Amino acid sequence: MFIKINDIPSSGLFLNRTINAGDIDLADDQEYQINSALAVEGLVENVGDEVIANLIVKGNFTFTCGRCLETVQQERQEKLQLFFDIDKNTDSINIGDDIRQELILCLSKFFLCDDGCKGLCGHCGGNMNKKECTCKD
Ligand SMILES: [Zn+2]
Ligand SMILES: [Zn+2]
Repeated sequence: MFIKINDIPSSGLFLNRTINAGDIDLADDQEYQINSALAVEGLVENVGDEVIANLIVKGNFTFTCGRCLETVQQERQEKLQLFFDIDKNTDSINIGDDIRQELILCLSKFFLCDDGCKGLCGHCGGNMNKKECTCKD
């Protein structure tokens, strides 16, 4: 996924693209499955000696919650900020590579079914989102 430096106007280039995970060599992992194409949206700016891309990448993923271990399918979005060093000889930048690397970092972090996931009971192992556990501390 290349962007030509000359295509970036001084006001910035607004990106709004759909890419297949395979297009940027992003594959399913033990920890997650990618169910949809990825929507990439944001602003790419040329600030002289570097190009800065502030992007939001959205997709539909199946993953295991890091707290309650339930398998969930969810729309996820990640904010990425990418920097590319350029000089007067740079014609284009390959943002696909950086999106892949950043996404892998984000995706391998704690996936949660919900920010408020209560996780598993440390005593009986029950899923505390599903029922009130009767164990006492
Ligand atoms: Zn959970
Ligand atoms: Zn319990």
